[in-house]
Amino acid sequence: MKLFRTIFHADARKDPDSLLRLFVAVALVSIILITSLAGYAFYRVLQKNLVDSAEEDAIKVSTALSEDERARFTVAKSDGTFAVEVLPENFFILDRDLRTFLSPFDIVKIKIYSSDCRIVYSTEAKLIGEVDRDNRRLARALTGAFDSKLERKEEVKDLADELKFNVDVVETYIPIRARGKVIGSFEVYIDVTKYRQQTVNAAFLSLAALCGTLMVVFGISFVLIRRGTNELKETQEVLRKQTLIDGLTGTFNKMQIEMIGRREFARALRRREKGLTDAEVGFIMIDIDRFKQVNDRYGHLAGDHLLQLFAERVSASLRSYDSLGRFGGEEFLVVLPGSDREQTLSVAHKIWSLIREEPFLVDGEPLRITASAGVANVQHNDDDLLQVLKRADQNLYQAKSGGRDRVV
Ligand code: GH3
Ligand code: MG
Ligand code: MG
Repeated sequence: MKLFRTIFHADARKDPDSLLRLFVAVALVSIILITSLAGYAFYRVLQKNLVDSAEEDAIKVSTALSEDERARFTVAKSDGTFAVEVLPENFFILDRDLRTFLSPFDIVKIKIYSSDCRIVYSTEAKLIGEVDRDNRRLARALTGAFDSKLERKEEVKDLADELKFNVDVVETYIPIRARGKVIGSFEVYIDVTKYRQQTVNAAFLSLAALCGTLMVVFGISFVLIRRGTNELKETQEVLRKQTLIDGLTGTFNKMQIEMIGRREFARALRRREKGLTDAEVGFIMIDIDRFKQVNDRYGHLAGDHLLQLFAERVSASLRSYDSLGRFGGEEFLVVLPGSDREQTLSVAHKIWSLIREEPFLVDGEPLRITASAGVANVQHNDDDLLQVLKRADQNLYQAKSGGRDRVV
């Protein structure tokens, strides 16, 4: 249920991975549903065919019996009507003839009922004489209707009096008529075990084919959709980067670093209001000194390269939860969550010395540069990030006007 809520949630549908999960879920449910429904329908149709053809056989056999043996299981009454009855002198011949007649068929048993529901003859001798008045199917047959039903029998005695186990039998009642009137009924048991097994096998085979086809179709669709969602994901990632990341240096762009600054500023204010510790956040504005000269001397491309190396070096010196963003041409902003004045100053000095101590390799040439930094921390009376950034900027200006290559 939770899975369904997750995959059908409106937000989840926008995410390519959820879209794919949704597809897989729908595909699986469809395969299960289609296969089960088709399986059920298929099985029912095959089973009906099986019963129908067994019924047809039973009717043919009964018709033939009625023609050949009628005299042995009916008697004419004094009022000119007929009744189903096996006279003792007819019993032996009827029994012998029936067994001979029935042996080539898959018939395991046959009963002959009179109109008062009495078994006047059965290939299973001990049943003869039994009266079966509560038999509703027999009652139907005595009104003139055929009635067939497939049943599984745990054991059945066949014509040769041998026991057979777990047999699928179609039992059919066939009315016996004389001069248009129903005077009794046959009940014919046909063994359809082997046909039923074939039916089940055919149903399974068709279902396997159907299931396989569906899986191939859904599999191909899955691959196509996954290709599409992967492309979508890549495009989304490119777009996301474009809105967050500066294309040249790979650091956050101005909008995003300001956003991060604002988030940390708000968090610090919240913690301060609650009287919690760790309500500090430090900001460092760094600007490369005389960068214009680098461009002028080595060219704009070398300048670009230097900017990349500069950003890499600053970034490497930060903790994982600090953020670096390009604020302008060669000016960067560092956001240090949880850093007080001392810590922010110390990070600024670390960056400053890392820049000036090791030359940058631009176009294979070592290039020494310096940077100036202005530092500011959130204070009690600050109610807007811009106030803090303004102080950092003023300090940077002071560093520049004081002769550059320093932290203020
Ligand atoms: P200062 O020490 O006062 O900061 O001097 P500066 O030369 O570094 O500063 P100024 O603001 O005079 O010049 C900044 C230069 O940075 C000018 C501009 O051409 C260059 N610049 C800005 N963005 C880029 C960029 O993306 N690539 C390159 N190669 N240069 C850039
Ligand atoms: Mg500069
Ligand atoms: Mg500048």
